[in-house]
Amino acid sequence: MNYTKVACIIELSNLVSGADIRLQLNDDFFAQFEGSEVLGGQVAVAISPRAVGKAWSLQVHLKGQVKLLCDRCLDEFLLPIDEDEEVRLCPAQNADGQQDAGDEQLFFTAQDTVVDLSQYLYESVCLSLPMQRFHARESDCNPQMLQKLKTLIVNLK
Ligand SMILES: [Zn+2]
Repeated sequence: MNYTKVACIIELSNLVSGADIRLQLNDDFFAQFEGSEVLGGQVAVAISPRAVGKAWSLQVHLKGQVKLLCDRCLDEFLLPIDEDEEVRLCPAQNADGQQDAGDEQLFFTAQDTVVDLSQYLYESVCLSLPMQRFHARESDCNPQMLQKLKTLIVNLK
């Protein structure tokens, strides 16, 4: 399958302390990651940059919902996400020896005019997912599928 690449790019020249940048992750964005457990979604991304010397600290807020497969009935369902995190955007020459333990870091070189946050944002969404994913209530699950699974389990015994 061919997907149009949907990149979440910010221009370095647009970074201003306190000026929020807004991006939107949609179905096309999630579709470009092969084998993803996230089947789609709508996630609003708000990024608040803050200059820290030559680097930037980005406060990232992810809010929306993602489409997953329910572990219980195997139907698709929407899981709300609301996640705050921080990532550091550093000039590449400072990459060595200055890693703050525990801090997420992205790098840009002197030649870069833009930074692609796609991979970072995708991973942030994946990491925010709970270990077990299912419809909030069992009554929201697909009843036919639950019945089929029950029959299957009984037959296996
Ligand atoms: Zn379910």
